[in-house]
Amino acid sequence: MYRIVASITSLELHAAALASGTDAHRPRNCPHCHSIKLWGHGFYHRKIERIPIAKGSFNPVAIARYLCAACLHTCSRLPLCIAPRRWHNWAVQQFVLLLILTGSSVRHCSNCSGIGARTVRRWRDWLRQRGEFFAFHLRSRFANLGREPDVPALWRRVMRSMGLDVAMAWLDQDLFVP
Ligand SMILES: [Zn+2]
Repeated sequence: MYRIVASITSLELHAAALASGTDAHRPRNCPHCHSIKLWGHGFYHRKIERIPIAKGSFNPVAIARYLCAACLHTCSRLPLCIAPRRWHNWAVQQFVLLLILTGSSVRHCSNCSGIGARTVRRWRDWLRQRGEFFAFHLRSRFANLGREPDVPALWRRVMRSMGLDVAMAWLDQDLFVP
């Protein structure tokens, strides 16, 4: 749904793009009606988990909003380093999910990551429920993933090669993620 701007990989780049007034965040068209007439529509502020490199200076983060002139829906776009609809960023989710995919228990993942067991379980269940569907789309785009023997192996490969963030940015072009 083009919610993620894959080229904006850090909060510093995100802030610089907003400050410079470039159209780096602007979607090509409206995700609701596909009209190309989108107006800048201010910002909302989103709180994010503390990321050491950001030193708290980007929290909350300004997120640009756009208004569709045709259907009047608003939309917004996030840099790659912020996950839609989740408090924790993709890197944290990937760390936990890779442990799960290599056989760790929920308790062990929780202890290693500092993420609560309930959240770990929710992410594990999300990957179980949505993982196969997402894997189908990733295989159709990246033929080499078709060589993986099963879905867990595919996700281990995805996370170790392109990264969960980049995979979600690809999927976001056609689907709702996460
Ligand atoms: Zn529209």
